[in-house]
Amino acid sequence: MNLLDGKKAAQAIKDELKIDVAQLSTEGKKIPHLVAILVGNNGASETYVAAKVKACEEVGFKSTLIRFDEDESAMKVLDTIEELNNDPDIDGILVQLPLPKHISDDEVINAIDPDKDVDGFHPVSVGRMVQGVPTFVSATPYGIMLLLKHYKIDTKGKHAVIVGRSNIVGRPMSILLSNNTNPGNCTVTVCHSKTENIKEYCLQADIIVAALGKTEFITADMVKEGAIVIDVGITRVSDTSKKSGFKLKGDVAFDTVAPKCSWITPVPGGVGPMTIAALMMNTYRSCMMKN
Ligand code: NAP
Repeated sequence: MNLLDGKKAAQAIKDELKIDVAQLSTEGKKIPHLVAILVGNNGASETYVAAKVKACEEVGFKSTLIRFDEDESAMKVLDTIEELNNDPDIDGILVQLPLPKHISDDEVINAIDPDKDVDGFHPVSVGRMVQGVPTFVSATPYGIMLLLKHYKIDTKGKHAVIVGRSNIVGRPMSILLSNNTNPGNCTVTVCHSKTENIKEYCLQADIIVAALGKTEFITADMVKEGAIVIDVGITRVSDTSKKSGFKLKGDVAFDTVAPKCSWITPVPGGVGPMTIAALMMNTYRSCMMKN
């Protein structure tokens, strides 16, 4: 079993970006600038946004965190996005989801200029991804593609089974892996909560991407020898031995599944760090479109 170490791969990507950003600075060119919008004080969202801001600092990007109270009006958030869309210094705008119930995720995502949509959630970005034309691909699936590339995993002709069909992970992952790219060129099966006999599909998989948010759903009896397993799941489970009071669990029963795999991602330290590295890549690319 080999580990697809997202922490290491993400660090390698960030190290390269740091050099590229320093070069931009030396040449007197524009430095990438990411703006994160956080509405309310959801604990997990706070952690994710803090990690993104920290990554910006690491690679030398400018970052701005705009915070709104939980009860802020949708209009105020939309007006802010409009201002950011029109600000030439801003390369990337991300709105941390989920938003409070009175604000529509879709309305907010649709308000972001697709040229600054570094989270890749805008319908224009999704449409371009489906067509296989260059765009901002949403950070988690893009991060997984970067991880496969980093470890030179040959995916061509492999059968990939994606468990989960969400717009931010499962669905884009299924499209990216089926595209005529490297990594890519897989034959893809998408499973979801209405799929019957998920185990039968998983047992046929050369690659399993588990993205359903159910801890340890993928067990050893569902995985064939030599499979590549990507665990996207992150669920906080109570752990009194931790200072935070919780630990992170994936969708794969790592201890028993890992011995059967050729490659597997850990949780934490797998897909999570790659998601942030991918966001940095998208922001850099957005800036380079202006430089
Ligand atoms: P989501 O929007 O809740 O989607 C979950 C998907 O899994 C749905 O398509 C659902 O099917 C399917 N599903 C649920 N229960 C199932 C079951 N028992 N059998 C088969 N399929 C089932 O979740 P998400 O946003 O995609 O996130 C999935 C997990 O990834 C979560 O743990 C999340 O925290 C994690 N995540 C991690 C990162 C990262 O950076 N590492 C980023 C994003 C998300 P239906 O469509 O039929 O409901």
